[in-house]
Formats: sequence, C-alpha cells, structure tokens
Amino acid sequence: MTTLFVSDLHLDSSQPEIIDQFLDFLSGDAASARALFILGDLFESWIGDDDPDPDKHRVVHALHELTASGTDGFFMAGNRDFLAGNVFEARSGFRRLEDPAIMAIEGEPVLLMHGDTLCTDDVEYQRFRGMVRDPIWQQHFLARSADHRIAMVRQARDASRIETSGKPAEIMDVNQGAVEQAIREHGVHTLIHGHTHRPAIHHFVVDETPSTRIVLGDWHREGSVLRWDGDGYRLLRLAR
Ligand code: MN
Repeated sequence: MTTLFVSDLHLDSSQPEIIDQFLDFLSGDAASARALFILGDLFESWIGDDDPDPDKHRVVHALHELTASGTDGFFMAGNRDFLAGNVFEARSGFRRLEDPAIMAIEGEPVLLMHGDTLCTDDVEYQRFRGMVRDPIWQQHFLARSADHRIAMVRQARDASRIETSGKPAEIMDVNQGAVEQAIREHGVHTLIHGHTHRPAIHHFVVDETPSTRIVLGDWHREGSVLRWDGDGYRLLRLAR
C-alpha cells in the first residue's frame, strides 16, 4: 500500500492553479493511497477555524471526501496554518499530529516534522515562533474580528517578505546539528520534513548509523510528493 507525503502547498485564492492541481491530486493519486500526510503550510494563511475564504472551504471539503472514501489523512501544522484547530480536524477528517511525530511507515519508524524548528540559525524567526505558538497569544489573536486578523496576517506576511529577502540563504535552511540532535533524541534513522522548499534526499551518518533526511518541495511551480510503498520511497515532481 502507498503512503503519500506533501507539504508547503501554500494554497491561496490568488493562485487558483495550485488549488486545482491539489484537488486533482486528492481525487487521483491520494484516493488510491492508504494514507496522506500533509506536513504543514497547506494554506498560505489560516486566521482561525472561522476563516471565511470560500477556496479554503472547498479544499477542506475535498479533504473530507478523501478521508470519507477510506484514505487516512494526517495533518501537521506549519508556520502558516498553525491555527487550524478542532473544527478543521472535524471538517476535513484529517487527524492532527504534533510536531514532531513518529509514525511507522512500511514498518520503519519515521520522524515527521514541518521543519521550521530545525532552522535554529534563524534566531529572529525562532523568537517570533515562540510568540505566536504561545496559547495566551493565540487566545488574544482569535478573540479579534476576522477582518482584523486578516489584516494582521497580511501585515506579518509583508514584514516577513522584507525580512527574509535580507537574510543569507543558509540561515533559512536547517541546521545540521539540530537535525542530528532530533534523530538522536527520537532514536530513528529517517526524517521527513518540508518548510525550506529545498526538495532533496540527504544521506549522512549519525553516531555511526546511516541516516536519511527527506525534504519535501513546495508547490509553487510544480507539485512535489513523496511516495512510499513496499518498493521503497521516491520523491516525485508533479508537472502542472
Ligand atoms: Mn513553513
């Protein structure tokens, strides 16, 4: 049976072609898979489970059709959609995973992460992450009107664009020490994550044991999916 992994679709009504490609993927490849894991940043933004965007509702509905038809769905939040909560879970039929999570894939324990917590060189980002993941901060944010939250998210996105354009590229990649620490801490040899938009399969040795880090790609110009079945795994590009 096949297990599929995707991340970093950044679905947004400004890019309907990505939404269409993902909906095709859900009714095609994903429908015949045993399970689909979404490892964060499915949406470009998620202001709360009362998000009024009709395109997001369309996607959540399609996720529900997938899980209702027998494919197991798992969702780990990214830095864009971490406010997807209980209502999202109920409406999509996707079970939320903590970050990190360990799941058995084809009998092998695999560490799953969104990937942002591995980017420890970006101290400024980690500080920001600490703030917005604080339950008190989230409670205050969610208490504001939807319009207010939409404006705040837009403002934060613009500020982050300006900020990241001034940061050296290596700061925004994972820190190898953080990767090795995560592998060691969880006693696994395979890690799958997204976030960096640098699709690749990295092989290296941790404490004399061969280890692998699989990085999922974003869906900006084409789709990216990791397909894992009895014959092993392949990181695939989906043409659009
Ligand atoms: Mn991300």
